[in-house]
Amino acid sequence: MPDIPRYSNFIEHPRYGRSPCFTGLNPHTDYGGDTFLHWHSSKSCRIPNTAIAADLNKQVPATVAVTHYYDVERKCRDCQSMFIFFAAEQKYWYEDLQFGLDSDCVRCCTCRKEQQGLTQKRQQYEELFHVVDRAPDQNLALAECCLYLIEKDVFTSQQTQHVRRLLNQLPNEKKYNERADHLRQQLTDIERSMSNG
Ligand SMILES: [Zn+2]
Repeated sequence: MPDIPRYSNFIEHPRYGRSPCFTGLNPHTDYGGDTFLHWHSSKSCRIPNTAIAADLNKQVPATVAVTHYYDVERKCRDCQSMFIFFAAEQKYWYEDLQFGLDSDCVRCCTCRKEQQGLTQKRQQYEELFHVVDRAPDQNLALAECCLYLIEKDVFTSQQTQHVRRLLNQLPNEKKYNERADHLRQQLTDIERSMSNG
């Protein structure tokens, strides 16, 4: 499908692309009163002719069921880019994943992936942090986690000292030295950018 100029700056979805998926179905205007649209597909963000029918039996019961999903335009909370929350994604969210109809998509797929990565790193960090008598490999992994979280502004830059301590505990062996040197270089870069900014 050719790119539509309006959507050329939208974040690309790995499966659906960046332009609307037109189905030719536009029930809000076609049937009027019998159609219930999602509260989040208000007229301003709803993309006409992209509707797909909902399976009401699969939705989590709500006061008002949603009979059709539309592609809707969204602005990402994190990167402020525009993206489409596709009707097919909504169907997947509300029917297969059983998300409540009040859950909305606030981040583009790129930022969502980033968010998931952060969550995983935090979990990994928590687990490693609480290990008693960490092995060198675990100390190294903990240092890497910590550095990643500093770079993503989850941890404050004061945590660089913690990373240095972890690195200094590593045995003086080739298999550790290379990675440790690489991490020390990253730490130096972070500390330098802190003192400059
Ligand atoms: Zn984003």
